[in-house]
Amino acid sequence: LSAKAQAVVDEIEEKEVDFLRLQFTDILGTVKNVAVPATQAEKAFTEGIYFDGSSIEGFVRIQESDMRLKPDPETFAILPWRDGRSARLICDVINTSTGKPFEGDPRYVLKQAIKRANEMGYKINAAPEPEFFLFEEDEEGRATTKTNDAGGYFDLAPKDLASDVRRDIIYGLESMGFEIEASHHEVAEGQHEINFEYDDALTTADNVGTFRTVVRAIAAQHDLHATFMPKPIARINGSGMHTHLSLFTEDGENAFHDEDDEFNLSETAKQFTAGILEHAPAITAVSNPTVNSYKRLVPGYEAPVYVAWSDRNRSALIRKPAARVPAASRIEARFPDPSCNPYLAFAALIHAGLNGIERGLECDDPVRENIYEFDEAKREEYGIETLPANLGEAIDALQEDEVVQDALGEHIYEKFVEAKSQEYDEFRVDVSQWELDKYLEKF
Ligand code: GLN
Ligand code: MG
Ligand code: MG
Ligand code: MG
Repeated sequence: LSAKAQAVVDEIEEKEVDFLRLQFTDILGTVKNVAVPATQAEKAFTEGIYFDGSSIEGFVRIQESDMRLKPDPETFAILPWRDGRSARLICDVINTSTGKPFEGDPRYVLKQAIKRANEMGYKINAAPEPEFFLFEEDEEGRATTKTNDAGGYFDLAPKDLASDVRRDIIYGLESMGFEIEASHHEVAEGQHEINFEYDDALTTADNVGTFRTVVRAIAAQHDLHATFMPKPIARINGSGMHTHLSLFTEDGENAFHDEDDEFNLSETAKQFTAGILEHAPAITAVSNPTVNSYKRLVPGYEAPVYVAWSDRNRSALIRKPAARVPAASRIEARFPDPSCNPYLAFAALIHAGLNGIERGLECDDPVRENIYEFDEAKREEYGIETLPANLGEAIDALQEDEVVQDALGEHIYEKFVEAKSQEYDEFRVDVSQWELDKYLEKF
């Protein structure tokens, strides 16, 4: 056993953990679990735990379904429920027939993106801002869209009744090793945001999965349903997952910072930004992967619609946030939403950005006006493109973008397009309440 794995085995014994949840995610970003008695911990590290991959979304065909989970000892954490008797480890998925990492494992896809950055001399830091709604449950315990408070942006209790729930969520996250930077009531009724400390891109993607699990579980203890659905209620703000990114060199310098630049952004940062802007329509399929995601990406609700960057305004796709110290110079991709698979979304953003650096792409000037207010002529004058209007258009864009396809790898690209095309078709042929309200009596 490695020293770290041995430390985990010791901690399991010392803290009398009974069950170990071995976690991984499917291509849709859903956290999957295999629970084993904690007595299996050592075996999990030495031999791995075998499971049938054929029933996991986007994994493998029945005839080649044996997969092995290889727990990453760095990810050990005791779960904040079940009296501390249950712990989790996030795993890499190994293909048993080749003994190599399974290309259908989203964590592997992100590791490949990080590896490419490392080869170019960079480490990647990422920090997400996941937003979510807390809704009441009905008598049967099913989620409604009724909010349990009437607070607004940065409101305090008693209007912000959910602050108790947020506090419990934060305690739960902290007990699992999260460093919480801030939490606040978001703009919409019932909407919240909890920010956690940035970390390397892989840890951050792991953290997003954990975050969503903990938020839902602790909300449920308060008889509330937490949802990361991007736009649960029409005509009010939706939930984004703004993603802050920066590159650091091997000697710990922030490669995105330039003291002399007007925006304190280095040439590297601008090239990276230009890469993301160029590939944004295809990335959207991954970072905004549901039919509902596109109900959020409309003008007027602080979510981006237009492909441009800015050092100020929030209608742009990428924003340069104010930074107090050089180490904090970074870019904020504002389009991702919390329904995405964080491993795949980060991988797509990173590869697109690195592609911009490799090609030395130039960045246009930032757009400082509110782009929501531009008409088409003005957008044309500025050369500003629009994001895909729906999941179908985003899939089309992905099918035309080899950089983002390569970011996902062949296996995931194919399974992803298959699953998402089907999802979009289901939506396309469905008849909605809006249509019935509009046409049933009129015609
Ligand atoms: N909810 C907004 C979005 O959809 C963001 C609002 C904010 O963080 N100021 O991205
Ligand atoms: Mg925020
Ligand atoms: Mg926010
Ligand atoms: Mg933000």
